[in-house]
Amino acid sequence: MSSSFPPLRDELRGIEPYGAPQLSHEAAPVQLNVNENPYGPSPAAAADIARAVGEAAVSLNRYPDREFVELRGALTAYLNTSGGSGITPDMVWAANGSNEVMLQLLQAFGGPGRVALSFAPTYSMYPEYARDTLTEWVAGHRADDFSLDLDAARELVLERRPSVVLLPSPNNPTGTALPPEAVTMLCEAAASYEPGGIVVVDEAYGEFRRAGTPSALELLGEHRNLVVTRTMSKAFALAGARLGYLAADPAICDAIRVVRLPYHLSAVTQATALAALRHAEELLGRVDDLRVERDATVVWLREQGHEVADSDANFVLFGRFADRHAVWQGLVDRGVLIRETGPDGWLRVSIGTADEMAAFRAALIDTMETHD
Ligand code: PMP
Repeated sequence: MSSSFPPLRDELRGIEPYGAPQLSHEAAPVQLNVNENPYGPSPAAAADIARAVGEAAVSLNRYPDREFVELRGALTAYLNTSGGSGITPDMVWAANGSNEVMLQLLQAFGGPGRVALSFAPTYSMYPEYARDTLTEWVAGHRADDFSLDLDAARELVLERRPSVVLLPSPNNPTGTALPPEAVTMLCEAAASYEPGGIVVVDEAYGEFRRAGTPSALELLGEHRNLVVTRTMSKAFALAGARLGYLAADPAICDAIRVVRLPYHLSAVTQATALAALRHAEELLGRVDDLRVERDATVVWLREQGHEVADSDANFVLFGRFADRHAVWQGLVDRGVLIRETGPDGWLRVSIGTADEMAAFRAALIDTMETHD
């Protein structure tokens, strides 16, 4: 057999698939590593989802509604209560997680000879979407406090003329939200050259933002090139269902239709998401608790003498450790799995239940004592 088997694209050779280590619950009973919502659906919501899936099951010989009309209507209604107004169903698109939504955006608007741009440190899947769509990847830099230097960001956009700007707000792994001025400035910059770029504000963690930080959904009427992505994986506590979505100009949704695979949203997914949206109030009901727990975690970590990034998300980035891997391992040894990610020296902890956060605090104190 030739040593080049399988005949993979050269740039993919030797690359590890993306993903956080998944340890069993026996190995790490406290799992605070992938920014999940620690609260599962109530028995009533789970029963309703099961019933909806059961109803869909009798027609699984047929392809699903390719245009997911009912789901699109329900997502539109939700967005208009969650920071948006005047959003219509032709402005909404959905796919299997916001990861797929963003890959589709790169498939439609990126490609050879085109540039996708973001500002590091940021979500590590972005360069992968660029790689997989043969789009050139350009990463500017965030300031020391992880905010964006707006003038430098604008200059980089004008210089590199990206087709797609990816702006997570709140950012992963830092938790930093963007002020509306930043979105406006970058939408204007990306509209100032030919053929222009789209600006994707990735609000995967949007529902967790602190009071006073508006959603970019408010700016949709002002910028045709603005796309706001959301997900049901985080605030909605539905990561296992794989449902992400966006709001944008209808012409952008139409463009995605060209690259999406036919029937990409299964009947089971559509039924699950629709049932979950009927229980939105309950599923989102824990967001406030998680915010309180997040703010308390930031305060506690600072009291312990750690450096902590301000967070508008359901996770907190803290450091700095001379040997972060040793601290991560110390926590795993005590049954607490967090994430070794972000700039060197930092670690990220997702916000869990009050009991899980107590276990995290105890494990971190114990680990730090051992390492002192
Ligand atoms: N954007 C950001 C910033 C994320 O952190 C994540 C998940 N970790 C996603 C998008 C994708 O989430 P999903 O595909 O589950 O919607």
